[in-house]
Amino acid sequence: MADPILSVRDLHTYFVADEGVVRAVDGTSFDLHSGRTLGIVGESGCGKSVTAKSILRIVERPGRIVSGQIMLRRQNGSTVDLTTLPTDGRDMRSIRGGEIGLVFQEPMSSLSAFHTIGNQLMEAIRLHTNLSKRAIREQAIELLAMVGIPRPAQRIDSYSFELSGGLRQRVMIAMALAAEPRVLIADEPTTALDVTTQAQILDLIRRLQQERDLAVMLITHDMGVIAEMADDVVVMYLGKEVEKGPVDDIFHAPRHPYTKSLLRSIPSVLAEPRSRLATITGSIPHPFARPGGCPFHPRCPDRHAVCEITVPAEVVIGENHVTACHLYNKVAA
Ligand code: SF4
Repeated sequence: MADPILSVRDLHTYFVADEGVVRAVDGTSFDLHSGRTLGIVGESGCGKSVTAKSILRIVERPGRIVSGQIMLRRQNGSTVDLTTLPTDGRDMRSIRGGEIGLVFQEPMSSLSAFHTIGNQLMEAIRLHTNLSKRAIREQAIELLAMVGIPRPAQRIDSYSFELSGGLRQRVMIAMALAAEPRVLIADEPTTALDVTTQAQILDLIRRLQQERDLAVMLITHDMGVIAEMADDVVVMYLGKEVEKGPVDDIFHAPRHPYTKSLLRSIPSVLAEPRSRLATITGSIPHPFARPGGCPFHPRCPDRHAVCEITVPAEVVIGENHVTACHLYNKVAA
């Protein structure tokens, strides 16, 4: 496999409040490669979105990156550690929305209701090019056509509230691609959409990825979306990666009890009619009451004494497949 475009190494992002410290991201590492999709999956509150915000350097206060590296191979061939750049400096502003495009869950909160979608799209293009006003408008219409907006030359003058949820999300994707990024971060891009529109948006992301050789980081709580889209998977729980590997290994040979629980909670067409969907026992602990030892131990059906005391180290299971669980750690067992 070619060198990664973006490498995250041992990233820790904490929120320090009067009540205590929330370790939102607590030591995650992964690579993004051109033409491949990395799926990051876990329940809400597991650190997926804070990982994305850390890469983009938009973590809200009192959160901050306390350690780790985020190495980006830039368009000019140089490599930069994003954690060392000033959050609002020129470099970071040109990387955010420029070299790294973003799509969020709720386009209504990301698109302005006071400006036409065309004006917002043209502004996104203008920030990263020196084209004339007319050429920018033509490019905006081309982008709208590319993401499947019908009658783009007319729709460009619409406001976001005049569009359906699916069309708004297509506009967001057009904006994310306006600066021709090589990396696309999509944070729950289809969660707010109905099933049919969700499938169309996922198809669109896949098609654009192939056409543009994009490295995609797809954040979702939905293992069904992971199965459909991801090449590689990171499973996160309470800020920690508990298992990561190629998608086939994660689905056909999962090792971590949390991954297995997530997989059991996917609806199956093979299930008995009216059979109940498995749920993960217990709930995610309060952020200030993080359990000692393995963070999953209060909910784990396979826990034993060592799990309550010792944090499990990552164990290599197979090629590019690792898990952090004492069941596979001979020394701890
Ligand atoms: Fe369960 Fe122990 Fe493995 Fe944690 S380390 S997932 S508690 S078996």
